[in-house]
Amino acid sequence: MSGHYNVLIVGTGHGGSQVAIALRNRGFNGSIAMIGEEVGYPYERPPLSKDYLAGEKSRERILIKPAQFWADRDVNLLTGNAVVSIDPELHTVTTSVGEILHYQTLIWAAGGHAHRLNCPGHDTAGIHSIRTREDVDRILQELDRTERIAVVGGGYIGLEAAATLRKLGKNVIVFEALDRVLARVTSETVSRFFEHEHRAQGVDLRLGTSVQEIQNVGGRVSGVRTNKGETIAAEMVIVGIGIRPSVDPLRNAGASVTNGVVVDEYGRSSLQDIFALGDCALHPNSFATDLTVRLESVQNANDMASTIAGFITGERQPYKSVPWFWSNQYDLRMQTVGLSTGHDHAIVRGSPEKRSFSVVYLKNRQVIALDCVNAVKDYAQGRALVQDRMVIDTVLLADSSITLKELAQKASPDAASLPSL
Ligand SMILES: Cc1cc2nc3c(=O)[nH]c(=O)nc-3n(C[C@H](O)[C@H](O)[C@H](O)COP(=O)(O)OP(=O)(O)OC[C@H]3O[C@@H](n4cnc5c(N)ncnc54)[C@H](O)[C@@H]3O)c2cc1C
Repeated sequence: MSGHYNVLIVGTGHGGSQVAIALRNRGFNGSIAMIGEEVGYPYERPPLSKDYLAGEKSRERILIKPAQFWADRDVNLLTGNAVVSIDPELHTVTTSVGEILHYQTLIWAAGGHAHRLNCPGHDTAGIHSIRTREDVDRILQELDRTERIAVVGGGYIGLEAAATLRKLGKNVIVFEALDRVLARVTSETVSRFFEHEHRAQGVDLRLGTSVQEIQNVGGRVSGVRTNKGETIAAEMVIVGIGIRPSVDPLRNAGASVTNGVVVDEYGRSSLQDIFALGDCALHPNSFATDLTVRLESVQNANDMASTIAGFITGERQPYKSVPWFWSNQYDLRMQTVGLSTGHDHAIVRGSPEKRSFSVVYLKNRQVIALDCVNAVKDYAQGRALVQDRMVIDTVLLADSSITLKELAQKASPDAASLPSL
């Protein structure tokens, strides 16, 4: 493998694929290659903890595009190979098998790798992450002979996995070190709602509990020991404790890297002709309290990809998409628009008891985000409120008999004059 490419994309995930798709859609006819350490055609990650783990979607059905698409668009797929170093002066990358590729423009879309446990027994057989399709294929191979599964981490991936595994009839114990699930991403109202739902579905949810040791019999997981001194039997452990952005080759090449590759509003890194996007990129975002953020969502990866493709093809539009996200657990569809971090007010609309509600987050009286559970209308109509940071009377906001669209029409005309977030 060698070559010279006008655009070389590192990472064949959501963001990498979308750059190639958007470039071709914009009529870019230079050479494009995508190099990725995973084997096979680009696939969607969200189903990994949902329908793919449940066995409801096949490998083909989670492909981002049918296999033939890439050949038809003349996108060279170099898979099963990682980039290990970059020479920004020479405009080359070196791969894990020592080959050198030249680029005119490099797009770093390398996502992240799942954090692993670091307690005694962390390398015991039967411990899994859910980051790649191969991870899930390994879980599926063991699932038939597994009854009790310990899930470490009560974030989205841990909870989605717990919901899917309960649906498959497994005994599931979730360990969350903090005092509530989803603490990093949502309010207490939403956390408590999901805790109640999981318990009602038969999940043994342990809050304030961390795993201190993985125990084994004959080298295979047999249980976990917690910080509370308990030993709990389990035949499999699934670890969902976040990711470490894949940034080492860029950092070693001299790029500015903090909690991710630092990029500007066009996705440009601090190195000439190198862009970064998606899960590994810390980007300016006017919807974030700190005005920069690293987001782990399909929306962000895809929209940053489109911004970069636009820049390359001469249409400079800074990245300013409203963040959105979804999570499916049991028959619940949670949809989020905006970023709630830093809110000073949270207004509940609808009824958590009836399993259909929204939480509207405000900061300095402006609407900054909504979490909507089985409340599609609020999600769809709430977007405009977040986009324009509208100021809405909180008493009216709590009245779910008034639609958000109606409230938006009555919104404060001087919202725009309020201080920005
Ligand atoms: C189980 C699961 C469920 C999710 N559910 C949702 C959801 O419901 N909604 C939502 O919005 N988001 C969800 N996400 C998050 C979403 O999938 C990610 O935000 C998105 O995939 C990020 O895209 P990306 O292109 O930045 O990175 P990725 O899709 O992770 O792609 C990066 C690729 O780069 C490869 N790579 C890394 N380093 C190198 C290297 N040095 N050389 C070559 N290749 C490399 C990686 O192996 C990977 O294939 C989920 C994620 C997971 C894991």
